[in-house]
Amino acid sequence: MPGAIQVPVTNSLLASLPRKDYQRLLTGFEPVTLTFGEIIYEPGKPIRHVYFPNDSLVSLLTLADGHLALEVGMVGHEGMVGTPVPLGVNVSAVRALVQGSGTALRMTSARFRKEFHDCPPLQRALYRYIHVLMAQVTQTAACNRFHVVEARLARWLLMTRDRVRANQFRLTQEFLAHMLGVRRVGVTKAASALQKRKLIRYSRGEINILDDKGLEAAACRCYQVVKDVHDRA
Ligand SMILES: [Zn+2]
Repeated sequence: MPGAIQVPVTNSLLASLPRKDYQRLLTGFEPVTLTFGEIIYEPGKPIRHVYFPNDSLVSLLTLADGHLALEVGMVGHEGMVGTPVPLGVNVSAVRALVQGSGTALRMTSARFRKEFHDCPPLQRALYRYIHVLMAQVTQTAACNRFHVVEARLARWLLMTRDRVRANQFRLTQEFLAHMLGVRRVGVTKAASALQKRKLIRYSRGEINILDDKGLEAAACRCYQVVKDVHDRA
């Protein structure tokens, strides 16, 4: 039955809306499970649904030469995947790849456009979110160019922690190498350095953040810059 929400809604963007608007929106949502490695958008292809992650995590990747992928953004419970839709665009510019399995609420793009048009609180929430996401994307561009792998890895782990609201998550080194746009050996070196400093534990594809403050000190400033934009918005 449409509108029967079986998973707890913990997407913060939706939860921030006035109760009346939030309840109406829920009738258009369908709960889905997103699985690690699943691709939900491809560049140049139509966006059929928008997604509001609860405990799932989605990476936005840009492709160079058609196959080299680099992460330019990350979306968790604080946001929405499919921001071109409220801007009136139905085609994705990026690949959206699930990097953390979990649940999300999705709505067809057509229905979402209508809801967006009719709901000023949703418009305000999304304009703020799109501003924060743009800040993240632009900061990531500078970060990839100027900062060393170890600091970038620390930043990336903290951003992931904030979005999945857990200090423990699964990751392969190969996946991390793609996310950070470096060779696998570079990720191995950076992860061992963080491990030697007792900031993380990394074994069999499972990351444990052991020392939040220490990891924040090891990350480049980009982490705090984006977090500040988010907190102010
Ligand atoms: Zn940086």
